[in-house]
Amino acid sequence: MGEFELIARYFQRPQRPLDDGVALGVGDDCALLQPTPGMQWAVSSDMLISGRHFFADVDPRTLGHKALAVNLSDLAACGARPRAFTLALALPEARAEWLQPFAEGLFALADAHGCALIGGDTTRGPLNICITVMGEVPPGQALLRSGAQVGDDVYVSGTLGDAALALQCLQGKAHLPPALLTAARQRLEQPTPRVALGLALCGVATAAADVSDGLLGDLGHILTQSGVGATVEAEIAIKLIAACADNTGSKGQFDTKIPDALALQCVLAGGDDYELVFTAPPARAAAVQAAAQASGTPVTRIGRTEAAGGVRVVDGNGAQLPGPWASFDHFAAPP
Ligand code: ADP
Ligand code: MG
Repeated sequence: MGEFELIARYFQRPQRPLDDGVALGVGDDCALLQPTPGMQWAVSSDMLISGRHFFADVDPRTLGHKALAVNLSDLAACGARPRAFTLALALPEARAEWLQPFAEGLFALADAHGCALIGGDTTRGPLNICITVMGEVPPGQALLRSGAQVGDDVYVSGTLGDAALALQCLQGKAHLPPALLTAARQRLEQPTPRVALGLALCGVATAAADVSDGLLGDLGHILTQSGVGATVEAEIAIKLIAACADNTGSKGQFDTKIPDALALQCVLAGGDDYELVFTAPPARAAAVQAAAQASGTPVTRIGRTEAAGGVRVVDGNGAQLPGPWASFDHFAAPP
Protein backbone atom coordinates (compact mmCIF):
# COMPACT_ATOMS: atom_id res chain seq x y z
CA MET A 1 0.00 0.00 0.00
CA GLY A 2 1.53 3.31 -1.11
CA GLU A 3 1.17 6.69 0.57
CA PHE A 4 -1.67 7.92 -1.64
CA GLU A 5 -3.57 4.63 -1.51
CA LEU A 6 -3.25 4.78 2.27
CA ILE A 7 -4.69 8.30 2.41
CA ALA A 8 -7.50 7.47 -0.01
CA ARG A 9 -8.40 4.26 1.78
CA TYR A 10 -8.34 5.42 5.38
CA PHE A 11 -8.60 9.19 5.53
CA GLN A 12 -10.50 10.36 2.48
CA ARG A 13 -14.25 10.09 2.78
CA PRO A 14 -17.02 11.41 0.55
CA GLN A 15 -18.07 14.85 1.72
CA ARG A 16 -21.13 14.65 3.93
CA PRO A 17 -23.93 17.19 4.50
CA LEU A 18 -22.52 17.49 8.01
CA ASP A 19 -19.42 19.08 6.54
CA ASP A 20 -20.99 22.35 5.46
CA GLY A 21 -18.32 24.98 5.64
CA VAL A 22 -15.82 22.61 4.03
CA ALA A 23 -15.63 23.88 0.46
CA LEU A 24 -12.81 21.44 -0.38
CA GLY A 25 -11.54 18.57 1.75
CA VAL A 26 -8.78 15.94 1.46
CA GLY A 27 -7.07 15.56 -1.91
CA ASP A 28 -5.79 18.90 -3.17
CA ASP A 29 -2.81 20.99 -2.12
CA CYS A 30 -4.98 22.89 0.36
CA ALA A 31 -8.38 22.43 1.91
CA LEU A 32 -10.81 25.32 1.56
CA LEU A 33 -12.96 26.36 4.51
CA GLN A 34 -15.94 28.66 4.39
CA PRO A 35 -16.23 30.34 7.79
CA THR A 36 -19.67 31.08 9.20
CA PRO A 37 -20.09 34.83 8.62
CA GLY A 38 -19.07 36.86 11.63
CA MET A 39 -17.44 34.02 13.56
CA GLN A 40 -13.83 33.78 14.77
CA TRP A 41 -11.67 30.69 14.25
CA ALA A 42 -10.29 28.95 17.33
CA VAL A 43 -7.24 26.89 16.30
CA SER A 44 -5.11 24.48 18.32
CA SER A 45 -2.55 21.68 17.74
CA ASP A 46 -1.59 18.73 19.89
CA MET A 47 1.05 16.11 19.12
CA LEU A 48 1.07 12.57 20.50
CA ILE A 49 4.36 10.67 20.39
CA SER A 50 4.76 6.95 20.86
CA GLY A 51 6.48 6.06 24.13
CA ARG A 52 5.89 9.52 25.53
CA HIS A 53 2.15 10.11 25.30
CA PHE A 54 1.03 6.51 24.80
CA PHE A 55 2.37 2.96 24.88
CA ALA A 56 3.45 1.78 21.40
CA ASP A 57 1.16 -1.26 21.64
CA VAL A 58 -1.95 0.67 22.73
CA ASP A 59 -5.20 -0.26 20.96
CA PRO A 60 -5.14 1.83 17.75
CA ARG A 61 -8.88 2.47 18.01
CA THR A 62 -8.53 4.18 21.37
CA LEU A 63 -5.44 6.01 20.07
CA GLY A 64 -7.45 7.42 17.16
CA HIS A 65 -10.05 8.59 19.65
CA LYS A 66 -7.52 10.09 22.04
CA ALA A 67 -5.52 11.92 19.38
CA LEU A 68 -8.61 13.88 18.40
CA ALA A 69 -10.06 14.06 21.93
CA VAL A 70 -7.07 15.95 23.34
CA ASN A 71 -7.43 18.49 20.53
CA LEU A 72 -11.21 18.86 20.93
CA SER A 73 -10.53 19.41 24.62
CA ASP A 74 -8.63 22.60 23.73
CA LEU A 75 -11.62 23.84 21.72
CA ALA A 76 -13.85 22.97 24.69
CA ALA A 77 -11.64 25.04 26.98
CA CYS A 78 -12.16 28.03 24.67
CA GLY A 79 -15.89 27.48 24.32
CA ALA A 80 -15.51 26.90 20.58
CA ARG A 81 -17.65 24.70 18.35
CA PRO A 82 -15.55 22.09 16.48
CA ARG A 83 -15.59 22.40 12.68
CA ALA A 84 -12.57 20.78 11.05
CA PHE A 85 -9.18 19.20 11.68
CA THR A 86 -5.99 18.15 9.93
CA LEU A 87 -3.99 15.01 10.69
CA ALA A 88 -0.21 14.77 10.32
CA LEU A 89 0.80 11.18 10.77
CA ALA A 90 4.23 9.52 10.91
CA LEU A 91 4.01 5.73 10.76
CA PRO A 92 6.76 3.12 10.95
CA GLU A 93 4.81 0.98 8.45
CA ALA A 94 1.47 0.98 6.61
CA ARG A 95 -0.45 -1.85 8.26
CA ALA A 96 -4.19 -2.22 7.60
CA GLU A 97 -4.66 -3.94 10.99
CA TRP A 98 -3.47 -0.74 12.63
CA LEU A 99 -4.81 1.90 10.23
CA GLN A 100 -8.37 0.58 10.01
CA PRO A 101 -9.17 0.69 13.76
CA PHE A 102 -7.17 3.92 14.18
CA ALA A 103 -9.30 5.61 11.50
CA GLU A 104 -12.50 4.17 13.00
CA GLY A 105 -11.72 5.50 16.46
CA LEU A 106 -10.78 8.86 15.01
CA PHE A 107 -13.86 9.24 12.80
CA ALA A 108 -16.29 8.01 15.45
CA LEU A 109 -15.33 10.92 17.69
CA ALA A 110 -15.05 13.35 14.76
CA ASP A 111 -18.57 12.49 13.60
CA ALA A 112 -19.96 12.77 17.13
CA HIS A 113 -18.75 16.38 17.13
CA GLY A 114 -19.44 17.27 13.50
CA CYS A 115 -15.71 17.87 12.96
CA ALA A 116 -14.48 17.11 9.42
CA LEU A 117 -11.02 15.77 8.52
CA ILE A 118 -9.93 18.18 5.78
CA GLY A 119 -6.30 17.24 5.12
CA GLY A 120 -2.97 16.39 6.61
CA ASP A 121 0.35 14.79 5.89
CA THR A 122 1.52 11.20 5.93
CA THR A 123 5.12 10.10 6.21
CA ARG A 124 7.17 7.13 7.31
CA GLY A 125 8.82 7.54 10.70
CA PRO A 126 8.51 6.79 14.39
CA LEU A 127 4.78 6.76 15.29
CA ASN A 128 3.73 10.35 15.82
CA ILE A 129 0.27 11.88 15.49
CA CYS A 130 -0.24 15.62 15.22
CA ILE A 131 -3.74 17.03 14.85
CA THR A 132 -4.74 20.64 14.35
CA VAL A 133 -8.36 21.45 15.15
CA MET A 134 -10.38 24.43 14.03
CA GLY A 135 -13.51 25.59 15.76
CA GLU A 136 -15.74 28.62 15.68
CA VAL A 137 -16.64 31.05 18.41
CA PRO A 138 -18.56 34.35 18.31
CA PRO A 139 -16.09 37.28 18.50
CA GLY A 140 -15.35 38.25 22.09
CA GLN A 141 -17.03 35.12 23.48
CA ALA A 142 -14.05 32.74 23.66
CA LEU A 143 -13.19 31.53 27.16
CA LEU A 144 -9.66 32.69 27.91
CA ARG A 145 -7.19 31.85 30.66
CA SER A 146 -6.83 35.50 31.53
CA GLY A 147 -10.29 36.47 32.77
CA ALA A 148 -10.43 35.23 36.39
CA GLN A 149 -11.30 37.86 39.02
CA VAL A 150 -10.50 37.88 42.75
CA GLY A 151 -13.33 36.15 44.62
CA ASP A 152 -14.38 33.86 41.74
CA ASP A 153 -15.28 30.29 42.52
CA VAL A 154 -12.99 27.63 41.00
CA TYR A 155 -14.73 24.64 39.43
CA VAL A 156 -13.72 21.45 37.66
CA SER A 157 -15.85 19.18 35.50
CA GLY A 158 -16.29 15.43 35.87
CA THR A 159 -13.72 13.35 37.71
CA LEU A 160 -9.99 13.92 38.10
CA GLY A 161 -7.01 11.70 38.78
CA ASP A 162 -8.32 8.45 37.34
CA ALA A 163 -6.16 8.69 34.22
CA ALA A 164 -3.03 9.24 36.30
CA LEU A 165 -3.95 6.41 38.65
CA ALA A 166 -4.49 4.07 35.69
CA LEU A 167 -1.05 5.01 34.40
CA GLN A 168 0.48 4.29 37.82
CA CYS A 169 -1.20 0.87 37.76
CA LEU A 170 -0.05 0.09 34.21
CA GLN A 171 3.49 1.01 35.30
CA GLY A 172 3.19 -1.32 38.29
CA LYS A 173 3.44 1.49 40.83
CA ALA A 174 -0.11 1.12 42.18
CA HIS A 175 -2.82 -1.51 42.20
CA LEU A 176 -6.57 -1.31 41.57
CA PRO A 177 -9.15 -4.11 41.48
CA PRO A 178 -9.77 -5.16 37.83
CA ALA A 179 -13.18 -3.47 37.45
CA LEU A 180 -11.88 -0.15 38.76
CA LEU A 181 -8.72 -0.39 36.66
CA THR A 182 -10.84 -0.94 33.54
CA ALA A 183 -12.84 2.20 34.28
CA ALA A 184 -9.76 4.24 35.13
CA ARG A 185 -7.98 2.99 32.03
CA GLN A 186 -10.93 4.09 29.94
CA ARG A 187 -10.37 7.59 31.28
CA LEU A 188 -6.69 7.41 30.34
CA GLU A 189 -7.17 5.96 26.87
CA GLN A 190 -10.52 7.42 25.81
CA PRO A 191 -10.99 10.79 27.46
CA THR A 192 -14.23 12.70 26.85
CA PRO A 193 -13.65 16.22 25.57
CA ARG A 194 -16.04 18.56 27.39
CA VAL A 195 -17.15 20.41 24.30
CA ALA A 196 -20.81 20.86 25.30
CA LEU A 197 -19.83 22.22 28.70
CA GLY A 198 -17.36 24.67 27.16
CA LEU A 199 -20.06 25.99 24.84
CA ALA A 200 -22.53 26.29 27.72
CA LEU A 201 -19.98 28.19 29.83
CA CYS A 202 -19.56 31.01 27.29
CA GLY A 203 -20.81 34.15 28.98
CA VAL A 204 -20.80 32.36 32.36
CA ALA A 205 -17.20 31.42 33.15
CA THR A 206 -14.62 34.20 33.53
CA ALA A 207 -11.68 31.92 32.60
CA ALA A 208 -11.16 28.29 31.59
CA ALA A 209 -8.48 25.77 30.66
CA ASP A 210 -8.52 22.03 30.06
CA VAL A 211 -6.73 19.76 32.50
CA SER A 212 -4.09 18.02 30.42
CA ASP A 213 -0.95 18.40 32.53
CA GLY A 214 -2.46 18.31 36.03
CA LEU A 215 -5.12 20.34 37.85
CA LEU A 216 -2.85 22.66 39.81
CA GLY A 217 -0.58 23.28 36.85
CA ASP A 218 -3.42 24.09 34.49
CA LEU A 219 -5.26 26.13 37.12
CA GLY A 220 -1.90 27.83 37.67
CA HIS A 221 -1.91 29.00 34.04
CA ILE A 222 -5.32 30.63 34.59
CA LEU A 223 -4.13 32.27 37.79
CA THR A 224 -0.87 33.57 36.35
CA GLN A 225 -2.52 34.94 33.24
CA SER A 226 -5.33 36.49 35.31
CA GLY A 227 -3.00 37.97 37.95
CA VAL A 228 -4.74 36.25 40.87
CA GLY A 229 -4.12 33.27 43.19
CA ALA A 230 -6.39 30.56 44.61
CA THR A 231 -7.08 28.23 47.48
CA VAL A 232 -8.16 24.68 46.64
CA GLU A 233 -9.92 22.50 49.21
CA ALA A 234 -8.21 19.11 49.42
CA GLU A 235 -11.20 17.34 51.00
CA ILE A 236 -13.38 18.25 48.05
CA ALA A 237 -10.68 17.62 45.47
CA ILE A 238 -9.81 14.13 46.71
CA LYS A 239 -13.40 12.95 46.20
CA LEU A 240 -13.11 13.74 42.49
CA ILE A 241 -11.10 10.56 41.83
CA ALA A 242 -13.75 8.05 40.82
CA ALA A 243 -11.53 4.97 40.97
CA CYS A 244 -11.10 5.40 44.74
CA ALA A 245 -14.65 6.35 45.67
CA ASP A 246 -16.94 3.81 47.28
CA ASN A 247 -20.28 2.97 45.69
CA THR A 248 -22.25 5.25 47.96
CA GLY A 249 -20.12 8.16 46.79
CA SER A 250 -20.36 9.65 50.26
CA LYS A 251 -16.98 10.00 51.93
CA GLY A 252 -14.83 8.30 49.36
CA GLN A 253 -13.77 5.15 51.15
CA PHE A 254 -10.44 4.47 49.58
CA ASP A 255 -9.21 1.12 48.50
CA THR A 256 -6.70 0.16 51.17
CA LYS A 257 -4.05 -0.19 48.46
CA ILE A 258 -4.43 3.40 47.26
CA PRO A 259 -3.22 5.74 50.03
CA ASP A 260 -4.94 9.12 50.32
CA ALA A 261 -1.65 10.85 49.52
CA LEU A 262 -1.42 9.06 46.16
CA ALA A 263 -5.09 9.74 45.38
CA LEU A 264 -4.63 13.43 46.14
CA GLN A 265 -1.44 13.56 44.10
CA CYS A 266 -3.29 12.00 41.13
CA VAL A 267 -6.16 14.51 41.44
CA LEU A 268 -4.02 17.61 41.92
CA ALA A 269 -1.13 16.86 39.60
CA GLY A 270 -2.02 13.78 37.58
CA GLY A 271 -2.99 15.13 34.20
CA ASP A 272 -4.47 13.41 31.12
CA ASP A 273 -8.01 13.86 32.47
CA TYR A 274 -9.12 16.39 29.84
CA GLU A 275 -11.69 17.91 32.17
CA LEU A 276 -12.23 21.66 32.30
CA VAL A 277 -11.06 23.86 35.17
CA PHE A 278 -12.79 27.24 35.19
CA THR A 279 -13.72 30.23 37.29
CA ALA A 280 -16.97 32.13 37.73
CA PRO A 281 -18.18 34.72 40.24
CA PRO A 282 -20.39 33.41 43.10
CA ALA A 283 -23.31 35.42 41.65
CA ARG A 284 -23.23 33.08 38.65
CA ALA A 285 -23.25 29.84 40.68
CA ALA A 286 -26.77 29.02 39.47
CA ALA A 287 -25.78 29.75 35.87
CA VAL A 288 -22.78 27.40 36.25
CA GLN A 289 -25.06 24.62 37.48
CA ALA A 290 -27.48 25.35 34.63
CA ALA A 291 -24.59 25.03 32.14
CA ALA A 292 -23.57 21.76 33.80
CA GLN A 293 -27.12 20.44 33.55
CA ALA A 294 -27.65 21.61 29.97
CA SER A 295 -24.44 19.87 28.88
CA GLY A 296 -24.94 16.75 31.00
CA THR A 297 -21.55 17.31 32.67
CA PRO A 298 -21.21 17.41 36.44
CA VAL A 299 -19.15 20.26 37.85
CA THR A 300 -17.73 20.66 41.35
CA ARG A 301 -16.63 23.82 43.13
CA ILE A 302 -13.16 23.14 44.53
CA GLY A 303 -12.02 26.53 45.77
CA ARG A 304 -11.88 30.27 45.33
CA THR A 305 -9.56 32.80 43.74
CA GLU A 306 -7.92 35.48 45.83
CA ALA A 307 -5.54 38.39 45.51
CA ALA A 308 -2.43 36.61 46.84
CA GLY A 309 -0.71 34.85 43.93
CA GLY A 310 -0.07 31.10 43.64
CA VAL A 311 -2.17 28.09 44.61
CA ARG A 312 -2.69 26.95 48.19
CA VAL A 313 -4.14 23.52 48.99
CA VAL A 314 -5.87 23.44 52.38
CA ASP A 315 -7.37 20.68 54.53
CA GLY A 316 -10.78 20.76 56.22
CA ASN A 317 -9.45 23.05 58.95
CA GLY A 318 -8.03 25.53 56.51
CA ALA A 319 -4.44 24.43 57.23
CA GLN A 320 -2.20 24.53 54.19
CA LEU A 321 -0.92 21.15 52.93
CA PRO A 322 2.73 21.02 51.95
CA GLY A 323 3.45 20.58 48.23
CA PRO A 324 5.04 20.42 45.84
CA TRP A 325 2.31 19.22 43.48
CA ALA A 326 4.38 19.02 40.33
CA SER A 327 2.40 19.00 37.11
CA PHE A 328 3.73 17.41 33.98
CA ASP A 329 6.39 19.37 32.14
CA HIS A 330 8.22 17.80 29.18
CA PHE A 331 11.33 19.86 29.86
CA ALA A 332 11.36 19.86 33.66
CA ALA A 333 14.66 18.87 35.24
CA PRO A 334 14.53 15.24 36.42
CA PRO A 335 13.90 14.89 40.20
P1 ADP B 1 1.38 17.67 -0.56
O1 ADP B 1 2.33 16.84 -1.36
O2 ADP B 1 0.80 18.80 -1.30
O3 ADP B 1 1.88 18.01 0.81
P2 ADP B 1 0.24 15.26 0.11
O4 ADP B 1 0.67 14.48 -1.07
O5 ADP B 1 1.05 15.15 1.35
O6 ADP B 1 0.10 16.74 -0.31
O7 ADP B 1 -1.24 14.89 0.46
C1 ADP B 1 -2.21 14.71 -0.53
C2 ADP B 1 -3.56 15.07 0.04
O8 ADP B 1 -3.87 14.17 1.08
C3 ADP B 1 -3.64 16.47 0.63
O9 ADP B 1 -4.93 16.96 0.38
C4 ADP B 1 -3.43 16.23 2.08
O10 ADP B 1 -4.07 17.24 2.85
C5 ADP B 1 -4.10 14.89 2.28
N1 ADP B 1 -3.53 14.10 3.39
C6 ADP B 1 -2.28 13.63 3.51
N2 ADP B 1 -2.14 12.90 4.62
C7 ADP B 1 -3.34 12.92 5.23
C8 ADP B 1 -3.85 12.36 6.43
N3 ADP B 1 -3.09 11.62 7.25
N4 ADP B 1 -5.14 12.59 6.73
C9 ADP B 1 -5.90 13.34 5.92
N5 ADP B 1 -5.51 13.88 4.79
C10 ADP B 1 -4.23 13.68 4.44
MG1 MG C 1 1.09 19.91 -2.68
